[in-house]
Amino acid sequence: MNSLDPATGSLIGELEATSPDLIQGIVSEARSAQQEWSRLPLRKRSEHIRQFGEILVSRKRIAAELISQENGKPIAESYTSEIIPTLDIVRYYAYRSAGAIKDRRVHNRIPLMKTKKAFVRYEPYGVIGIISPWNYPLLLPCGQIIPALMTGNTVVFKPSEYTPLVGDMIAQFLWETGIPRKVFNIVQGGGDVGAALACSKVNKLFFTGSTATGKKISGLAANTLTPLSLELGSKDAMIVLDDADIDSAASGAIWGSLMNAGQTCVSIERCFVHEKIYDRFLDVLQTKIKKLRTGKGSDAGTDIGPIIHKAQFDTIRFQVEDAVRKGARIAAGGDFLEKNGTYFISPTVLIDLPKECSLMTEETFGPVLPITKFSSDDEAIGLANDSRFGLAASVWTADKKRGMAIAQRLQAGAVILNDIISYYGNSDGVVGGPKESGSGRVHGREGLFEMVFPKYYEIERAWRTKKLWWYPYDSTLLHFFEATVDLLFSKSLFAKSKSLLKLVPNFLRIKKI
Ligand code: NAD
Repeated sequence: MNSLDPATGSLIGELEATSPDLIQGIVSEARSAQQEWSRLPLRKRSEHIRQFGEILVSRKRIAAELISQENGKPIAESYTSEIIPTLDIVRYYAYRSAGAIKDRRVHNRIPLMKTKKAFVRYEPYGVIGIISPWNYPLLLPCGQIIPALMTGNTVVFKPSEYTPLVGDMIAQFLWETGIPRKVFNIVQGGGDVGAALACSKVNKLFFTGSTATGKKISGLAANTLTPLSLELGSKDAMIVLDDADIDSAASGAIWGSLMNAGQTCVSIERCFVHEKIYDRFLDVLQTKIKKLRTGKGSDAGTDIGPIIHKAQFDTIRFQVEDAVRKGARIAAGGDFLEKNGTYFISPTVLIDLPKECSLMTEETFGPVLPITKFSSDDEAIGLANDSRFGLAASVWTADKKRGMAIAQRLQAGAVILNDIISYYGNSDGVVGGPKESGSGRVHGREGLFEMVFPKYYEIERAWRTKKLWWYPYDSTLLHFFEATVDLLFSKSLFAKSKSLLKLVPNFLRIKKI
């Protein structure tokens, strides 16, 4: 399979795709390696992960250039939205995993059970399958690979067919730390390889990608009841209130909708601006947007890179044309450039949008910002929640209390006041959303707990004693348990003391086989 530079259409490298027929065998090998890997002390696994971080630090330049070349994003973003947050994830899980998943002592409140010692231990699933998209080819898979390995799972990773070389780089760096190849496995290819992995009986599957593919994968995983974590698409809302700082909000809207050429799951796809500041906001935004440069991501001065492929470019163009046909007006940009297998779109702003158009309902995933006016907080909340997605949202205001009141009513997995997207860079935070944005969580404790299942352990200390609730049953036992209910749970002191009179004689008569 070929890896192409989306800014030039030229060949960057070639790799052998994995045959879907081989996937089952690779998963079996990963399973056979898992016991030994999970028996390593957590401290040892953490050493490998820290070493991976050191390798990434020492080869940051090569990594940044490869990401920019294969994905098309400006090289500055290779650092800010890939390498730096990935290194933070490495550090977070390398140092924090042990404390987060330690055993939980369990106390049984029923007196008859007091002879027992119990605890919950968080154990690795086994083999974790990870299917990733192309838009953040380093950060997204590492946000799952690192906690999976830390918790004692082995991994079978499938990067996107559009960024196989970044996927391969992750594998090379991990193997360089001494992690065995059967502990971290990489398979390369497109949807057919992903589908084979989804059917392969991995112990848990992590999928990040479009909602449409997420639905297909749910169907495949249902056959084997494979547990699934889904990180899917969105249509995130930005609400700009009448007391917001217009200059800062306009810059935030531009960056939040255009970074990575808008190909970000948590990019601003709908911007709602209070009518009192709407005209000024639009003026400021139009002035700022003219200063942005579209081009090759590898040029240090490029702000917006290419669109990854033709299908994505066609979807964006269709949505913009559909909106314009239905009455929307282009307030900036609107140029679609297709040349020699490369696809560029000038930063585009649309206003006067009809409610019913795909640009306002479907994920666009391009450098396009639709802006809509509102007149009250309730209206803004209604507009923002009117979506089948809900990854994140932002509220822009000088009034923290008012902002928080709105934030609580927004149906989203994260709400930020006066910033945009930044939460994705907080390893201690949590990412994931309700509705059709998915079901799993990454980052933080929650991301770690996605990698383990809670297993209950109980040790009976009175191991020679036969239990009162064992056979045989008879009327003595029945009276004893009736009295037990009153003693433990009745609100009446009279009933409690009366129960003792029944409890003791019946207790003395109980016989067990
Ligand atoms: P995609 O769904 O086309 O592909 C994602 C991955 O799934 C790729 O590796 C692909 O090869 C694989 N795949 C495709 N068909 C498959 C099938 N039938 N069975 C198994 N695997 C299959 O998505 P994309 O275009 O690579 O990425 C863009 C999408 O990802 C956007 O919708 C974006 O919102 C979403 N995304 C979500 C998050 C998040 O955290 N929620 C993060 C990044 C991207």
